[in-house]
Amino acid sequence: MRAAVLGAVGEPLSIEEVTGGNPGPGEVLVRVTASGVCHSDLSVCNGTLPLQLPAILGHEGTGVVEWAGREVTRVRPGDRVIGSFLPACGRCRQCLADRSHLCEEAGRLLGRACGTRADGTALYPMTGLGTFAETMVCEELSVVPVGTDLPDEVLALIGCGVTTGVGAALNTAAVRPGSTVAVVGCGGVGQAVIQGAKIAGASRIIAVDPVAYKRETALRLGATDALDPSDSGTGTVEGVRELTDGVGVDYAFEVIGNVATIREAFSMTASGGSCIVVGVPSAALDVAVPAAELIFGEKRLLGCLYGSAQVRRDFPRLVRMVERGQLDVGAMVSRRITLDEVNGAFDAMAAGTVIRSVIVNA
Ligand SMILES: [Zn+2]
Ligand SMILES: [Zn+2]
Repeated sequence: MRAAVLGAVGEPLSIEEVTGGNPGPGEVLVRVTASGVCHSDLSVCNGTLPLQLPAILGHEGTGVVEWAGREVTRVRPGDRVIGSFLPACGRCRQCLADRSHLCEEAGRLLGRACGTRADGTALYPMTGLGTFAETMVCEELSVVPVGTDLPDEVLALIGCGVTTGVGAALNTAAVRPGSTVAVVGCGGVGQAVIQGAKIAGASRIIAVDPVAYKRETALRLGATDALDPSDSGTGTVEGVRELTDGVGVDYAFEVIGNVATIREAFSMTASGGSCIVVGVPSAALDVAVPAAELIFGEKRLLGCLYGSAQVRRDFPRLVRMVERGQLDVGAMVSRRITLDEVNGAFDAMAAGTVIRSVIVNA
């Protein structure tokens, strides 16, 4: 089968013929039909997110189960599935406490090789999936079946960006009706946060992004206001305060992963409000916020992993929201591309000309 392989940090992906692994008794073989190109894939390429290499990248995908091992009970051949980039065992302390995104077994489930290159070198799948490929072998626990006729590119985005963004609003922050929201960074995940805040009934949603196309998309998907942080003038924090009678927002979401914008998001949060960090900064960095704002403003600083999603509950729920027209995922698909065009998708992402490129396998 063909797959996009990262051989070393800083290199482009190489599209090559590889040999897939043999699925074990608790594993499934999935024919990948579509895969989004997410910023976290780029973060692996440039070394921000460390990963065992060489690796098949891609962690936001969907497909059809072709074969299931004898111990597999949740899916059958022919099922459409969405990949979960964090497998959930369903039995550990975290899974039993409705925190399956923090499953204690995930690390053990994610470590194994998934095939070999032509020269026999072992290949590792990003997050146990490796969706930049024609097929993937993964744990049954890494896929969730969904019964729907929605297009493949829509289901693919539910695997990461949509679940992370909508989940950040509905699960992590639990945005309340009538509240005010700012979203700093309006790529795929940011657009999903905006839609989640709208579904939750926020009265004001302020999109912050330097790219005009992303601000326009945000306004179409539910933002009530849009700010360009590169505008000279009072600055983004003041801009948000001006739009909220000088008090700041109840919920500020940082969806870039930059310690300076996390600090800004914290400062645009109203007293008693929450700043939710969805973007992923380099693990080597510390996040610093002013102690006076933290204590005397009683602000909450919340980390958000995978939208605090319980994928077996939330993937089907998000599919229903798209079917009912509450959630517009199609508007987040900027380009449909082939596996061979994946490096170009990273260039487009860096240039800010797309919300999401999606690889659609013929
Ligand atoms: Zn992702
Ligand atoms: Zn678990």
